[in-house]
Amino acid sequence: MTSPIPFVANPDYRFAGEWLAALRREMPNECIVPLNELDAAAKPESRFAIVINPLPEDIRQLPRLEWVHSVWAGVERLVTDLADTDLKIVRLIDPQLADTMAEAVLAWTMYLHRDMPAYAAQQRNRSWMPLDYTRPHEKTVGLLGLGALGEAAARRLLGEGFNVCGWSRTRKALAGVDCFAGDSELPAMLAKADILVCLLPLTAGTTGLLNAERLGHIPSGASLINFARGPIISDDALRASLDAGRIKHVVLDVFDVEPLPPESWQWAHPSVTVLPHISAPTDRKTASTIIAQNIDRYRKTGEIPECVDPTRGY
Ligand code: NAP
Repeated sequence: MTSPIPFVANPDYRFAGEWLAALRREMPNECIVPLNELDAAAKPESRFAIVINPLPEDIRQLPRLEWVHSVWAGVERLVTDLADTDLKIVRLIDPQLADTMAEAVLAWTMYLHRDMPAYAAQQRNRSWMPLDYTRPHEKTVGLLGLGALGEAAARRLLGEGFNVCGWSRTRKALAGVDCFAGDSELPAMLAKADILVCLLPLTAGTTGLLNAERLGHIPSGASLINFARGPIISDDALRASLDAGRIKHVVLDVFDVEPLPPESWQWAHPSVTVLPHISAPTDRKTASTIIAQNIDRYRKTGEIPECVDPTRGY
C-alpha cells in the first residue's frame, strides 16, 4: 500500500476540483487527497505533494516533505514562498504547453507582421491606406529565452520563414537560430529584432531586465510581445518608448498585477494589445499525464524529477 499523495491547492484557486479529477484519472492506483482531508497520521509520512499556488503555512503541515510537483511551468511564486525551506520544486515541462505557446507566438507575431493593429486603427477612422508589405524572410524575430517554450517557438517561426535569433543564459546550438548568450550579448541580440518575444522565467536576474537602456537597443519601429511575466519589462520605460513611437506596438499577456486593474494605462493605450494571460493555458489532461509519469518513476526508482535550481531561480 503506497502512501497517499497530498494535494495542496490555494483556497482561492477556482479549478482545484477539476485538477483533482484529472490527476485521479491519470493515477487510478494512487490515492490523491486534498490537504484538508488528509489523515493526521498521514501528514508526517508524506515525502512529496502535488501543489497549485499553495499557502506556505499549508506546506508546513507536511514536516517531512522533500519535494513538490507544481502543475505550472512558471514557479517564481513558489520559489519565493519556499525560499526558507530546502524543499525541491518540480515544475511542469509539457510538450503540449510548448506547442500551445509556439502557436501563440506565431499567431501574435503574424498579427504584428501583417500590421493588424494599424489596420484596426485605420478602420476605426474610416481610413483606407495600404501599408508596405515585407516578407517573413525580411524580418527577424528575437526570442528572449530559449528553454522549453522558446525552442518550440523558434522552430514554429523558422517554419513560417522568419529569421530567428534567441538569447539564453548558457549558449544554445539550435539549427537555423542565431544564438546569443549572457548579459554581454543581449544588446547585440536586441538590435537585430523586428519583433521581440519574451519567454524568460521571472527571477532575480530577469526582473526589470527590459529597462529603458535595454529597450533603447531595440531598433526604432520594432514591436514587442511579453508572454512570460510582467515584471521582466519596466512599465514606465515601456510606456515612454511607446509614447515616443520608438516601439511600434506591444502585445502584453502578463502584467505586474493580474487581473490588470481597470485604471491601468495599458487598457486604453493605442499601441498596446492587452490579453488576459491566455497565451499558453496548461492542458489539465496532458499535464496530469506528465505528473503521473514523474510520480510513477519516483515510486519505482526514488528518482526525484528535474528540479528548479534555487540559485538560478528557475
Ligand atoms: P525554461 O525551460 O526554464 O527556459 C528558460 C529560458 O530562459 C532558458 O533558455 C534560460 O537560459 C533563459 N534564462 C533564464 N534566466 C536568464 C537570464 N538571466 N539571462 C538569459 N537567459 C535566461 O522555461 P520555459 O518552460 O521555457 O518557460 C519560460 C517562462 O514562460 C516560465 O517561467 C513562465 O513564467 C512563462 N510561461 C507563461 C505562460 C503564459 O501563458 N503566459 C505559460 C507558461 C509559461 P538557459 O537555457 O541557459 O538555462
